[in-house]
Amino acid sequence: MNLVLEKPYSPIAPIAFGNWQEKGIEIAFKREDLSHPFISGNKWRKLHYHLLAAAKKDAKTLVTFGGAFSNHLLATAAAGAKYRFKTMGIVRGEWVQNPVLGLCKHFGMQLEFVDRTTYKDHQSIEVHSKIEHAYWIPEGGGGPLGEKGMGEILQEIPDAYTHVCCSVGTGASFKGLLQAAAFMNSHIQLEAFAIIKQADYLNESFKACGYPNYRFHTESHGGGYAKTSASLIAFMENFSRSTGILCDQVYEAKLLQYLDLLIQENQYPRGSKILVLHNGGLSGMLSLFA
Ligand SMILES: *Cc1c(COP(=O)(O)O)cnc(C)c1O
Repeated sequence: MNLVLEKPYSPIAPIAFGNWQEKGIEIAFKREDLSHPFISGNKWRKLHYHLLAAAKKDAKTLVTFGGAFSNHLLATAAAGAKYRFKTMGIVRGEWVQNPVLGLCKHFGMQLEFVDRTTYKDHQSIEVHSKIEHAYWIPEGGGGPLGEKGMGEILQEIPDAYTHVCCSVGTGASFKGLLQAAAFMNSHIQLEAFAIIKQADYLNESFKACGYPNYRFHTESHGGGYAKTSASLIAFMENFSRSTGILCDQVYEAKLLQYLDLLIQENQYPRGSKILVLHNGGLSGMLSLFA
């Protein structure tokens, strides 16, 4: 099957928030969150080449992995429906019901819950599965194809920007940016914001991308993956109420709150032009109100 994918809608929009402008810093968002309600942000970028590969192989079913609030599962479910693949989601942990999994099912995804020990060994699940004409997408949509799709964002970023900020879970998105920056001989400083604890281990794979001009903030996780605090929620509300832009508590709000801290510490020289990739993931907010 020949699949043609449109370019995602992702304009660059300046953001005025707090005292950022008084600090002499220009900040803009790359609105990757606008590309689609659910196939949004880095999840769309990472799926791009996986979808093309699946179509080329005439695969019938996209199979992938994720937690019970996984933006990637939902993106895959929606993309499968849009591009006419069946979808199966292998979900970590016991059976649960929640708004994200409800939307996955709504798009036609078949869900298989797998206990946490079994879940860890994706390779073994894949080898023992009997799904015919399956195309397996790594958890989070990563791997070389996912990274390649993410790296293409850099071609859409004007040279005038001095810094590009990106949130980091598995690190696949940031690796894609690093690889593309190395390839393009870029001058932009890439800034990674960890939203998981003890993310230092990712640094080896970041270094291996061959682009030295980056900083990895490992203290931006706000207590650990998906952990929230009164201060984070207050920041989110303040941000949304003063900009009209939503950001989720798992990824983008943590990046922004930490970026704000760095700005208050004058870590970015006056005249910096910072571009924040809004990696989407707004469906994560559904867990706040469940
Ligand atoms: C999945 C996700 C991330 C993490 O991306 P990785 O490629 O796994 O590092 C960051 N932000 C948002 C909004 C996401 O949905």
